[in-house]
Amino acid sequence: MKGIIYCRVSTQEQADDGNSLKTQERLCRLYAQKEGLEIVEVFIEEGESAKTISRTKLQEMMKYCKDHQGEIDSLLIYKIDRLSRASVDYATLKAYFYQCGVKVISITEAIEDNPVGRLVETMLAGIAQFDNEVRGERSRNGMIEALKDGRYTFKEPYGFDRVGGRGTSNIVPNQLLAPKIKEVFNLVLEGHRSLEEVRQKAKQIGVVRNDGKALTKSHFYKMLKNPIYKGYINIPKMSIYQKGNFEAIVEPEVFDQVQFVLNGKSKKLPIYKKVNPDFPLRGIVKCGNCRKTMTGNWAKKKYGHYRCTNCKGVNIKKDYVESRFKDYLETIRLDENIANVIKTAIKLNWEQETAEIKKERLILENQLNELKHKQNSVIDKNIEGVISDEVARTKISQLESEIAGIRMELLKYNQPEADEQELMDYSINFLTNLSGAWENTEVEIQNKLQKWLFPSGLIFKDGEFTTDTRPLPALLNEELGGENSIMVTPRGLEPRLLP
Ligand SMILES: [Zn+2]
Repeated sequence: MKGIIYCRVSTQEQADDGNSLKTQERLCRLYAQKEGLEIVEVFIEEGESAKTISRTKLQEMMKYCKDHQGEIDSLLIYKIDRLSRASVDYATLKAYFYQCGVKVISITEAIEDNPVGRLVETMLAGIAQFDNEVRGERSRNGMIEALKDGRYTFKEPYGFDRVGGRGTSNIVPNQLLAPKIKEVFNLVLEGHRSLEEVRQKAKQIGVVRNDGKALTKSHFYKMLKNPIYKGYINIPKMSIYQKGNFEAIVEPEVFDQVQFVLNGKSKKLPIYKKVNPDFPLRGIVKCGNCRKTMTGNWAKKKYGHYRCTNCKGVNIKKDYVESRFKDYLETIRLDENIANVIKTAIKLNWEQETAEIKKERLILENQLNELKHKQNSVIDKNIEGVISDEVARTKISQLESEIAGIRMELLKYNQPEADEQELMDYSINFLTNLSGAWENTEVEIQNKLQKWLFPSGLIFKDGEFTTDTRPLPALLNEELGGENSIMVTPRGLEPRLLP
């Protein structure tokens, strides 16, 4: 039996993280030893993201497997997410290696190669991907997080100063300028001056640029229109309009009345987009007639519709589509009993893993003690005059670096796996409560969830949703539930994934 190993760390991970290349390789080798696998090649990917399959070592390995078809039995990876965080990629990769006669084994997830095992594996890959995307979204949109607290983290607008540091950064009115800006808004309200006259007046009272010149017409107009002065954050590009968590410069009523004046003829206050996303299902729901992806639009800014740009008359009320979508999620959500079975099975896997880690740790601790012992004996010998200072110094520093290496490795074992288990439990619970989860989540995550559940999109026809590929939770229900399920014993639900 011959095997190969593939290891990878993503750039974000620290060298001393529990998933370092060395650990991955070592644990894979340990597994191989246990299973009687001869490792003939190790592929190590350094600092490449798992997001895409365009990784050099991975490609090299793919070629290697093709060239050595029939010679290699297994590919060992530390975790599924080492190979790929995108479940589609993972499935493709797995199929590729399978064709080369190579079985992919995730040593820490230790999943059996049977239909159920494969499903759980797909789910794990899916969760890894979902988690990855959510995290990506979170870090990319750190500013959205800030916005949710009502903090304004963009360049401070005229008349505001920046306060706070990372994670607390926000704006406050500049003590000198704020009252003057307030006065300018009031001047507009008085109504007997033209805008140009107010601008000149503003210059007189000190609402000026840093160089003392008057604000340009455009800057001046933008200032009067910017709701930041009444304490609101407005970022049209991101469809964000919300109350900020900082002190306003102008009372909201005054600001609104100024808009009224500025808009003159229209006599209408400007309408701003609401914070909540308009059409969360846009981009995923397809027309039942022509299968073209539907768009969303507002009729008279009041009634939202999902619409097919291809078929005339396919124009369905937003509320209806979304409520039917939630009903649909109810029908595909993961069954609670099955969720419990999966959780138990995964927990067993973890316990097995933990037991192995304990063994590993013991070995390392023994090595550490041995090295310390050696160090002491070098010191003793040096004191006794058996070895020279120089030899002792070299020997000690050599042992020192070995000790440091082992300490580093031991560090990893200090981190409990509880977090990961919690994430898994959370993810599985999430799948049992899809409609609630969908409803209560922010739009970016809604979109990720949709794409993850329905990679090929959803077709909406006659009030019903259908999809070309069975969604994962529904698939798990079918495979793991039912009378003939191998997971179910006459006594009730018992996990049979593991011995
Ligand atoms: Zn259509």
